Amino acid sequence: MSDQTKDQAHGNPFWSPAVAQLQPYVPGEQPKTTARLIKLNTNESPYPPSPRAQAVLKEEGLASHLRLYPDPESTELRETIATQFDLSPEQVFVGNGSDEVLAHAFYSFFKRPQPLLFPDITYSFYPVYCQFYDITPQTLPLREDFSIAVEDYGVDNAGGVILPNPNAPTGRYLPLAEIEKLLQLHPERVVVIDEAYIDFGGESAVALIDRYPNLLVVHTLSKSHALAGLRLGYAMGQAHLIEALNRAKNSFNSYPIDGIAQKVATAAIADQAWLTDNCAKVIATREWTCMQLDDLGFDIVPSTANFILAKPPKLAAEDLFKALRERNIIVRYFNKPRISEYLRISIGTDEEMQALVAACREVL
Ligand SMILES: *Cc1c(COP(=O)(O)O)cnc(C)c1O
Repeated sequence: MSDQTKDQAHGNPFWSPAVAQLQPYVPGEQPKTTARLIKLNTNESPYPPSPRAQAVLKEEGLASHLRLYPDPESTELRETIATQFDLSPEQVFVGNGSDEVLAHAFYSFFKRPQPLLFPDITYSFYPVYCQFYDITPQTLPLREDFSIAVEDYGVDNAGGVILPNPNAPTGRYLPLAEIEKLLQLHPERVVVIDEAYIDFGGESAVALIDRYPNLLVVHTLSKSHALAGLRLGYAMGQAHLIEALNRAKNSFNSYPIDGIAQKVATAAIADQAWLTDNCAKVIATREWTCMQLDDLGFDIVPSTANFILAKPPKLAAEDLFKALRERNIIVRYFNKPRISEYLRISIGTDEEMQALVAACREVL
């Protein structure tokens, strides 16, 4: 918030005190025109979604369906997700992007007097939800190498735990055995594992759902499924957790998933072969990019995601960010403690990453 907007907020008689003091999340730049731009700043897929998902949008009569309200329970979509992960539909909740799923999870499980635990460097929406729902955050520092120190999470009287796996924006993966330790540290509290990037090389915690009544796993179609524009996310956990999310959802918006999104998402999730191929391409390009940047002297955090966190040699990260921007390449720079010397670079196509490496070589 600029100082000017802040002053207006405080002086605006129409705004509630609650909204005046919010500090909303600021998403990565979405330029109005992407012509000639290499966009490596918001971890979108460089490739289009599954042809089966695309075909749905060309179906005859699709638009005329919009006359009716969509299925409020997204039944077919939840059944498809359940089949994919060997769960029952009662163990699946869907939302308008995983951000919305997370918002309901914060309300359903973490809105209590005890503090919510998460890493000091993580998805920057978590503190925003804490403020929105009046939840006290308690951040725990990542180790020097940016890995998560699970032993630090044994805090007495915690209200819950949330972390992305792989973590964002570090890209570091936490093995399932460590996730199990977390679940055992807080058997009476919910542990949310935000697996937005799990398909790029990690092993999902979904397999633990049967054994842990306190585990909620959250996925999104925005990254590995190449459907950021569709806005579809989902949560998986035992039925009693899903019931809580439904209570929150049905007190907020009964129809969060439009009829078209339900159909497209169903087709996308059923196309597992496309997903495997798409992720394999991104992973191969990521490994190539890491080797090239390593040769140029970058310090790279090991990544299991579709982005890398890399510290440039010689030049400050912010200066390299600006130099790349002048060359029509956008990456993400976070002016925050511990990561202000790094750039977060999404993995694009091979050609885009070749252009990035060439630009870095020229600048450095
Ligand atoms: C991208 C991202 C999300 C949000 O995904 P949407 O489904 O697009 O809302 C959630 N968590 C993390 C860690 C992410 O990086």
